[in-house]
Amino acid sequence: MKKLKEKLRISLNGIYPEHEINSLFYMVMEHLTGLTRQQLLFNSGLSLNSDQFDTFCIIVDRLNRKEPIQYILGEGEFYGLRFKLAPGVLIPRGETEELVELIIKDYTGQSPKVLDIGSGSGCIPVVLKKHLPMGEVYSCDISSTALEIAQANSTLNQTEITFFEYDILSAKSIPYSLFDVIVSNPPYVTEKEKEHMESLVLEHEPHLALFVPDNDPLLFYRAILQKAELLLKKGGAIYFEINEAYGCEVESLFNSYGFFAELYADIQGKPRFAKGVYQ
Ligand code: GLN
Repeated sequence: MKKLKEKLRISLNGIYPEHEINSLFYMVMEHLTGLTRQQLLFNSGLSLNSDQFDTFCIIVDRLNRKEPIQYILGEGEFYGLRFKLAPGVLIPRGETEELVELIIKDYTGQSPKVLDIGSGSGCIPVVLKKHLPMGEVYSCDISSTALEIAQANSTLNQTEITFFEYDILSAKSIPYSLFDVIVSNPPYVTEKEKEHMESLVLEHEPHLALFVPDNDPLLFYRAILQKAELLLKKGGAIYFEINEAYGCEVESLFNSYGFFAELYADIQGKPRFAKGVYQ
């Protein structure tokens, strides 16, 4: 274990900070051995067989080339559940856990009909169905690759969700209605923000899921709000993850479509979520 950790540390020195190398080490070892982190900590004398060691070396090499660990291992964690992940879907973020938390808090014990727009890995609909089991959850995405992964994650986590292919920017209407909740974490990073982004994200994650044009950063929110009247019940609510730079703009957009809006800060104190209640 000690030697393996040292190998990883030397290879990733200067690429990842020390504490991240440590957690990467345990993620890799958990994946290779099937042991939990706890078991690994009690097993400091553990060694890998030659196949495992070869895989370890390949993983270290890919980490060294700044590939996200979740894509290398083909999985990641979100809200305590395991998700299959591949380059066709965004890696679930910590802030999105806060988004689902808002909804879970508002609807615990109830049976809301929920529509998630932009399934990606399926992390939002799967967690919502798991925590609001009496609810009915629908989720759509423009990407058939994403829908396949999302469906696999729904199966993996034993949830029943209705997935369908749909482009929210199209003129077509959604074949379902009377929702209590619409949730979306749409693309919201502007092109001009690209220069501040890490290559880890830029070179590996799907741009389709991340970027909006500089001259229309609210594109997806507007598209959703335009259709919301036909989709939501009166008193229903929309929950968005947003770009911290556009809180006020999203709030006014909500207001202009007849919603009462509120902004919520993420754990870092940045306005990251907006909730609108349809009057
Ligand atoms: N929060 C994500 C990031 O920092 C962006 C997610 C999104 O565009 N919806 O990359």
